[in-house]
Amino acid sequence: MAKQVISFHYRLTDSKGKEVDSSLDSEPLAFLEGSGQIIPGLEGTLLTLGIGDKKTVTVPYKDAYGAYDQSLIVQVPRDKFPAQEVKVGDMFQVQNGDHPQVVMVVEIKDGNVTIDANHPLAGQDLTFDVEITARRDATADEILHGHAHGPHGHHHH
Ligand code: ZN
Repeated sequence: MAKQVISFHYRLTDSKGKEVDSSLDSEPLAFLEGSGQIIPGLEGTLLTLGIGDKKTVTVPYKDAYGAYDQSLIVQVPRDKFPAQEVKVGDMFQVQNGDHPQVVMVVEIKDGNVTIDANHPLAGQDLTFDVEITARRDATADEILHGHAHGPHGHHHH
């Protein structure tokens, strides 16, 4: 079967049942099958659904954002820290090799800033309430570009 472009509404809750993200106040999310835009544990289920189908999908952390890694918590001397103002809960984007990575300040103590580079949802089993709003074969251009095109996908200007 041709690669699919699927649009869906979702509501994401973490392992404590707290809502983390939702598309319900905006447009559905469109993605191209196999483009890596959707976590693998969710994409596999979405591909089995048809237009109008609703489903609750629980994705174990290993198929979502991975295990929580204690070694990603590091201390940086305050004077080596780039920002002027730092407080607990601040998020910063840093360069990790070729990849931008978001880190969060978790503690400031004795001249050191402790940062946590885990994904905020690392170690969490995630629950998605999804509803498929559209589904079609991908166009040749979309497959070439590696992403879905409008109305809810990527727009070229
Ligand atoms: Zn494109």
